[in-house]
Amino acid sequence: MTTTNRRDFLKIAGASALTLIAPPILCTAWAKDKMNIPGGGFAPAGALTAKRWAMAIDPSKCSADCTDCITACHALHNVPSFGNPKDEVKWIWTEPFASAFPGENHAYHGQAIQKMRLPVMCNHCANPACVRVCPTKATFQRPDGVVMMDYHRCIGCRLCMAGCPYGARSMNFRDPRPFIARINPNFPTRTRGVVEKCNFCEERLAKGMLPACVLACKQKALVFGDAENPQSEIRMLIEKRFNLRRRAHLGTAPQIYYIL
Ligand code: SF4
Repeated sequence: MTTTNRRDFLKIAGASALTLIAPPILCTAWAKDKMNIPGGGFAPAGALTAKRWAMAIDPSKCSADCTDCITACHALHNVPSFGNPKDEVKWIWTEPFASAFPGENHAYHGQAIQKMRLPVMCNHCANPACVRVCPTKATFQRPDGVVMMDYHRCIGCRLCMAGCPYGARSMNFRDPRPFIARINPNFPTRTRGVVEKCNFCEERLAKGMLPACVLACKQKALVFGDAENPQSEIRMLIEKRFNLRRRAHLGTAPQIYYIL
């Protein structure tokens, strides 16, 4: 089957499956233990909910060589470690200020800025380019802003990777499973030919827990919450402190705010 045919087949199969499956799911017991999400849709009882999930990061609180947020995220989500940059799969990583914010960099920044390494990840953009270009709707946006991946619908075309201006998506060019140090049985592993990225720990939000990276950070450099709630810690933080978003001029409306 050619790539085009496979894509068409997946679209038709997906639409058919939804037609068959959606009514029972929405009308049966599944819905009884769900609650309304402020932005629309449903969440399991006990879930953390928001109109617009967002994160604020204060890189000045990060210790020089600390990788706690990366380690926690990658272990939880079965992110493989291939040991070479060519095949690298990453959900969170660090970038120097100059490459995270090329438009803001200049030669007279002091050592503190020049040596800074910022945690970067999917920005869960309010206007995500990746979602617009995905031909199978394998990547989609929830009403609360989380940009999701359906690994089963991904056909590995990599249009989302080309569309994302942040390099936030990784392709599994090889079977990742042999390269996962210790498989977490509570989170799916991926297969060769599938794209992945940060999911704002949606599986933890559904159980009432904050993202793993936020809890792993002893310096409290990462603050997660509802940007639409004027009483939330994140909203007060991004209202009061000067902050930047990566490549915001592109119109993607990124939802990671860097306090600088
Ligand atoms: Fe999509 Fe990239 Fe924005 Fe994440 S950062 S939502 S992958 S465009």
